[in-house]
Amino acid sequence: MTQVPNSRVPVPTLERLATYLRLLHDLDQAHIETVSSSEVERQTGINAAQFRKDLSYFGEFGKPGVGYNVPELRQRITRILKIDRPKPVILIGAGNLGSALVGYPGLKEHQFELVAVFDNNYGKIGRPLWNLVIQDIARLKELNDSLKARIAILAVPASAAQDVCERLVDAGIRAILNFAPVLLRVPEGVYVRNVSFIQELAVLSYHLSEEEERERQQNGHNQADMAESHLTTLAAYAAAVEPEVPDRTEAPIES
Ligand code: NAD
Repeated sequence: MTQVPNSRVPVPTLERLATYLRLLHDLDQAHIETVSSSEVERQTGINAAQFRKDLSYFGEFGKPGVGYNVPELRQRITRILKIDRPKPVILIGAGNLGSALVGYPGLKEHQFELVAVFDNNYGKIGRPLWNLVIQDIARLKELNDSLKARIAILAVPASAAQDVCERLVDAGIRAILNFAPVLLRVPEGVYVRNVSFIQELAVLSYHLSEEEERERQQNGHNQADMAESHLTTLAAYAAAVEPEVPDRTEAPIES
């Protein structure tokens, strides 16, 4: 779920740009120099026309008949998403989820540098967590004055999320990746992205049940086809053994 005020580019476009970027990263690593929109469609599942439309928001890309230069497109999307230089990020909540996120190397690979982690539990404050030391949430504003992070990851219990969110805004945070299962109230100009893997599982489960329903209907059709073909065979038998029997298709069905 997304709360993004006043954004010129549609959020789904931004999300797809991140998907293209992941693909371009892999192609670049494999030293593949050009890619066509149909190849992007094949590898991402995103329609080629949609891909071209997404890029058209940002100017001219690619050459007709040649395709897109992978390193160049990668660099341009990186710049569009403004992740062409390291961005400091802070994390609040050094619990199960927060600790796993701090140890996740993918953040740094994508230029998100976790510069501090905060908690309010005195049993945790001052302890090391990966390459960081857990800081007291009471020092958030003071420390962020010099860290200058504008992005925060929120991994505290739902009951604490709104309060921590307000502290984050007060400390200069302008974008929050929220893992807590609550809708945060934020002032204008502050962006929130809500991550919920339960929600994602629910969407997957919905797709599965739709798929199962289609299969059930397909089975129903198959059975109907089978029944129809048996009936046709039976009708042929009947016609063969009783050629003189009159047409009974109009006769009422007995129950
Ligand atoms: P946890 O209890 O292990 O960790 C929460 C941490 O937040 C603790 O270290 C606690 O001391 C700290 N904390 C509590 N109040 C605080 C405050 N006011 N200021 C600073 N720190 C505070 O919980 P968890 O399993 O890591 O889950 C964290 C959050 O993430 C929960 O809201 C949970 O529902 C959510 N969660 C989301 C997903 C998802 O997919 N979005 C998945 C798992 C968990």
